Amino acid sequence: MADRPGIGTRAVHTPPAPTPAQAPLGLAVWRTAAWAFGSAQEYSDLLNGRMAGYSYSRIANPTTDAFGTAVASLEDVTGEALGWACASGMAAVTTTIIALAGGGHVIAPREVYGGTYGLLDVLGPRLGLTVSWVDARDPDAVAAAVTPDTRLVWGEVLANPTIAVADLPALAAVAHAAGVPLAVDATFASPVVCRPLEHGVDVVVHSATKYLGGHGDVTAGVVVARPELLHEIATVGITMGPSLSPDDAFLAHRGLATLPLRVRQQCATATALAAALAEHPAVVKVEHPSLPGTADHDLARKLFDDGLYGAMLTVTVPGGTDGAAAYCDAAGLALIASSLGSHHTKLTPVATTTHRQLSAEALARAGIAGGAVRISCGLEDTEDVVADLVGALRAVSR
Ligand SMILES: *Cc1c(COP(=O)(O)O)cnc(C)c1O
Repeated sequence: MADRPGIGTRAVHTPPAPTPAQAPLGLAVWRTAAWAFGSAQEYSDLLNGRMAGYSYSRIANPTTDAFGTAVASLEDVTGEALGWACASGMAAVTTTIIALAGGGHVIAPREVYGGTYGLLDVLGPRLGLTVSWVDARDPDAVAAAVTPDTRLVWGEVLANPTIAVADLPALAAVAHAAGVPLAVDATFASPVVCRPLEHGVDVVVHSATKYLGGHGDVTAGVVVARPELLHEIATVGITMGPSLSPDDAFLAHRGLATLPLRVRQQCATATALAAALAEHPAVVKVEHPSLPGTADHDLARKLFDDGLYGAMLTVTVPGGTDGAAAYCDAAGLALIASSLGSHHTKLTPVATTTHRQLSAEALARAGIAGGAVRISCGLEDTEDVVADLVGALRAVSR
């Protein structure tokens, strides 16, 4: 009896799972917090970088690494860039900004995503960050905001909710002339529409909660950059700790296989919907880069893949915030919901929800009317989405 371990011991030290010699087609989920080493020397060698491998999942995990690497390969065909996956889009944003600009000055667009605004404006002072808010459509204004303390220029490929297209090469030229990196949030575009690294951008961040995951069932983020910069960012991330769980990495990774198919379909719907809304007499304004005769259209033709203009658009209906609410309520197929990029078409009445913190004056300056409704086109049939969202205009037509 003495040479046979007790049932408690056998329950803890179960026979090891087989290690298959064949590669699984599905991504393996390494649901473990830590790895065991063959010797004390091995443990020390790994932590000291003398040996490759895994020790602790906050630091690195093969499933989350697979997701980060896969997004890097979508963003960068040269294969040079690396990706770091993390627990949310905001984890990607905060880690990038703190790593590259903590204690320094950041130049950011006025219409930046609300969470990023909160980081820079509310938490910024506690992190020693100073910020200049600029009109990102004016590269001269960005250049004029540079100070000796400037560490980072921040941008968004497509702005929320104006869907303005950033002039990435012009912003990169300004940032590089100041000797600092340009980081952009490319969530609204996805790498199917635009790969910012090809246009001079140094760091790309995504909320993978949106298009990359694509099914509204996972919260995740990712940062992609060339190795030195990515290493700097991931090192800060490992210390701050917003690691992505392997289960969520699996879901986010699974979204990637269908990303191009989904996004192309969603973009086609957005383009058809923008055209249909733009010619409707009740509509005040439609913002989508597919609409010709605008600077955004010309920039999108230069920077985006052929025929793709993103799947986010904003329609302004008459009647201010009441009109926006009536329009959303009149839609049937489209859901009134936060988030974007998933298979569901979603509506956001902008002034009373995502941009509720902005004063009337700030809304006006950002060109956001009370009647603005942001639309994230889903994967329903294009004709059904168009019929629903043109039909809902009856609620605001006189
Ligand atoms: C949603 C979003 C984020 C934040 O992502 P989370 O996954 O919600 O943390 C950042 N930037 C943009 C443009 C977003 O749409």
